[in-house]
Amino acid sequence: MAVSTLAKHLAAEGRDIIDLSAGEPDFDTPLFISDAGVEGIRGGKTRYTPPAGTPELRKAIAAHLSARAGRLLDWNGVVVSTGAKQCLFNAVFTLFGPGDEVLIAAPYWTTYPALVDIARAEPVPVFGDEADDFKLSPSHLDAAATKRTRGLVINTPCNPTGAVYSLEELTALAEWAREHGVWVVSDEIYRNIYHGDDRAAAAGVLDVPTGSIGHYVLVDGVSKSYAMTGWRVGFSYCDTEVAKKFTALQSQVTSNVNTPAQVAALEAYTNVEAAEASIAEMKTAFKRRRDLVAARMEELLPEVPFIHPAGAFYCFFRVDGLFDNGVKNATAWCSKVLQEVGVALVPGAAFGDDRWARMSYAASDEDLETALSRIAQVAGETASV
Ligand code: PMP
Repeated sequence: MAVSTLAKHLAAEGRDIIDLSAGEPDFDTPLFISDAGVEGIRGGKTRYTPPAGTPELRKAIAAHLSARAGRLLDWNGVVVSTGAKQCLFNAVFTLFGPGDEVLIAAPYWTTYPALVDIARAEPVPVFGDEADDFKLSPSHLDAAATKRTRGLVINTPCNPTGAVYSLEELTALAEWAREHGVWVVSDEIYRNIYHGDDRAAAAGVLDVPTGSIGHYVLVDGVSKSYAMTGWRVGFSYCDTEVAKKFTALQSQVTSNVNTPAQVAALEAYTNVEAAEASIAEMKTAFKRRRDLVAARMEELLPEVPFIHPAGAFYCFFRVDGLFDNGVKNATAWCSKVLQEVGVALVPGAAFGDDRWARMSYAASDEDLETALSRIAQVAGETASV
């Protein structure tokens, strides 16, 4: 968000800026969802709801999850919160505190360690192997765990790498967590943005056989799947007793998610045909852009390693080969790229490793083409120094 703000500031000064820093789809919310929200306001859906969300929405989300899991899930386990971010806040503040260590799959989305930190627990970043798209296996967890380990935060498809866990890989992590009495917090907000054809190859915690998983919190929401980042609707699904604790915490902090947004989200989860059609449309665009970015990276920046994104809408690439005397980390490199050629990227410092940078490809094909040529121009200057 800091980079995005600077990019907007430069654009406001008249600079030609291509902003590839933001973590949100570049599409508008599908009209059938927005219309439902507007009708909600006009129809008087403007009062408080129960803190965990309207029963209609919680039941619709439970039905959506049940269809995905192939078994009936209890709607009392669903808590609707102000974005996936508040779901993560609820989970971290309810489950972890002083003296606890929380393993965080790295590179990570910035908010995970920050939340653990402000809950006064200790975030422990755990990196997988670069050759395996940084995905974790039980051996990485063994090496990082201590007697104080209480949680494991994973994110698949992953921001910033675009890596996606298979069912086998996720089951291995779930089994490890169960054996060690560790909570799995699984952020699956990019669940629908998977570029492969075999949806089963992209697993979530609900796909893991119930005998292989212990305590978990699933976090998801409408922000990315339905291009609804500004509506602020997320949900968690977990054991009903824990869901009650999330609700109690949330009821003292924000109460319910704003009511018209809940009405819009209800439409997204119940008008399945229209929702699937709009997801398919966005997925097609993201996949085309993913292919474009990967092809141009290989063509224009052959010396720059990147994680081939299997999902989400980010390309994570390694820029330490482009450092020079004045530029010794990705923060400085991204700042140079922004100042010199007007492309906004996010330095890897935000994700735990400042040798990398993240490009969002939630942008037009034309902007992506131009941005990649401009980045190649900067890289070329470094190479010729
Ligand atoms: N999780 C991840 C991995 C994200 O990238 C984001 C948004 N950048 C969120 C959660 C936040 O989602 P929401 O808008 O639902 O709070």
